[in-house]
Amino acid sequence: MVVHHLPNPPPRSRYHAVADAIADAGFPAYRYRQLLHAVFHRAVLDFASMHELPIRLRDLLTARFGPRITAVEPLATQRSPRATKTLLAAPRGGRIESVLLSYPAGWSSLCLSSQVGCGLGCTFCATGTMGLRRNLDADEITDQVLLAGARPDSVAFMGMGEPLANPHTLTAIDLLVDPAYFGFSPRRITVSTVGFLPGMRRLLDRHPGVVPTVSVHSPYPDQRRELIPLEDRYPLAECLDVLDEHAAHSNRRVYLAYLLIDGVNDSTAHADALARQILGYRRPDLLVLSVIPFNPAPGLPADYSTPSAEATTAFLRRVRSRGIRAVRRNQFGADIDAACGQLAARRPGFVGVEEILRADGDPRRRRGDAASSG
Ligand code: SF4
Repeated sequence: MVVHHLPNPPPRSRYHAVADAIADAGFPAYRYRQLLHAVFHRAVLDFASMHELPIRLRDLLTARFGPRITAVEPLATQRSPRATKTLLAAPRGGRIESVLLSYPAGWSSLCLSSQVGCGLGCTFCATGTMGLRRNLDADEITDQVLLAGARPDSVAFMGMGEPLANPHTLTAIDLLVDPAYFGFSPRRITVSTVGFLPGMRRLLDRHPGVVPTVSVHSPYPDQRRELIPLEDRYPLAECLDVLDEHAAHSNRRVYLAYLLIDGVNDSTAHADALARQILGYRRPDLLVLSVIPFNPAPGLPADYSTPSAEATTAFLRRVRSRGIRAVRRNQFGADIDAACGQLAARRPGFVGVEEILRADGDPRRRRGDAASSG
């Protein structure tokens, strides 16, 4: 049955299937609205605990969809003072991670995964060592928000995967900004890309209010190609043209991420070339450089290392002295492999994860790689 008079459940999503099931069983449309109220205002995920619904409907939904509205299953969590990393099993296969960051100023941000693994092979990134298993669907992406423990103040597509290589990311953002569902302001949604240009165009067209971040990592195309092989297909210069156009048109800040690797891309020459490149755009005042010290992780090149705090400060000073707006990105969770570039769903430090993998009979455990099969 086609669902009418309901808060637009996206086609093929679990929400749509739930709304259909409610209508097909002859319940009035307001029951679906009650269900959404339970999920998004009372944080009730178990159908059995949605007391505003008749028991017959709760039983029907449980029989049809399982005990919870979420399809993704949390397996284990790992905490450090300002980061909580959650390992999740995706229903269609594979494991992913999300990271809840708590900032000293009192707000929180959830780092979302968009793919199981990633096929783009950036040489500084643990997820890239996994290869691409598959795209997550919109439910699997947004379930990470429902399972974060508390509603985050903002979300960032900075977890596993290249979000703009996955068409379902746009559907997930539809849900995240819809007031009937997650109701985030687009300004509270950051989408980080290494420059997947067609997806970037589609994102800025459909959700112009979200905050885009493009990874730069080197002002020199030859070196950038070594760090981010996608440079061959979609050169940074083309991505920055699109980003600058968007900034000029929207009059809003956009971000350029710069991963600083000791002795690789942290020289004065890099800082000066980067500044020249940014100053060449129409609205350099709106292009904010976000500098991130490299985080080591298993499987990454041995000659990549974290720059010293002094080297990071010197790089920031140099680009700022050239007139660039630059910030150092706060990094939490490196001690639990939850920081940028470290997510690979494979570290055994999760509380209870060894038992989970053993119980699964998961061959990955024998290889010490919990992420490499799905
Ligand atoms: S940095 Fe992003 S795009 Fe590159 S391999 Fe890692 S997850 Fe994929």
